[in-house]
Amino acid sequence: MCFYVKWHFGVSLATAHFHFFIRQTLHFLNKSIYLLLDLKPPQVIKDFFKLFFPDNCPGCGQSFLRGEKHVCLQCLYGLHKTQYHNDPENPIAKNFWGKTDFVAVTAVYFFQKGQVLQRLLHQLKYNGCKEIGIMLGRQMAIELFQASAFSNADIIIPVPLHPGKLLQRGYNQSEMIALGIAENWQKEVHTATLKRKKYTQSQTHKARYERFENTESVFELDDVKPYENKHVLLVDDVISTGSTIISCAEAFSGINGCKISMASVAAPHR
Ligand SMILES: [Zn+2]
Repeated sequence: MCFYVKWHFGVSLATAHFHFFIRQTLHFLNKSIYLLLDLKPPQVIKDFFKLFFPDNCPGCGQSFLRGEKHVCLQCLYGLHKTQYHNDPENPIAKNFWGKTDFVAVTAVYFFQKGQVLQRLLHQLKYNGCKEIGIMLGRQMAIELFQASAFSNADIIIPVPLHPGKLLQRGYNQSEMIALGIAENWQKEVHTATLKRKKYTQSQTHKARYERFENTESVFELDDVKPYENKHVLLVDDVISTGSTIISCAEAFSGINGCKISMASVAAPHR
């Protein structure tokens, strides 16, 4: 019996080592060929390799366990929560007071350089990992479900991406987050009505816009009717200075009965 256990353990270990060796070798060969030819592997080759050798978690670098995809559960559940949604006087809200009218504002997780969330957001923004945005959105929906100032919203609107960036990236990362939230709460997502206003010289003279560092971040609505007497939740990936999301909120000011709340995945420690 003892011999069998030892033998079985030895064989399992050898098999695991063999699989690891094969996997590393194939990865090495795949990368080497393209490095030698100074080419990037085409998506079809990447997809083929992913099929047999799924990626590691972008947050921690560990191999995925069975059922895990895009982000491992340890990384997803280990993100540092702000609990700002339980505090109407949280640091972001205080920073926004007097700049725009809103019901509530929150960022669900703290953003720290070099930490898991920074790596996840980097994959979402620069490496085509849209699914990470959807997963983070679903997590936000769970965290904010009890906070009616957010979950009672009628419509979810992601902060629009600059058209140039949208063309380059192919998708708006905030839209992916909004879709994750909306899927969980069964809400509408509007992506076409809120637009970045074209920069004009005359705007620089308008006092209203002067407080924003970046005058390109000014938004307007194609149609105000859908937002009359509605509660809109604006969603972004990160709230840092807040100037972008405040500009979005300003686009809704003056609409009859319209209320605004704002939520992001992350904000830096204040
Ligand atoms: Zn991980």
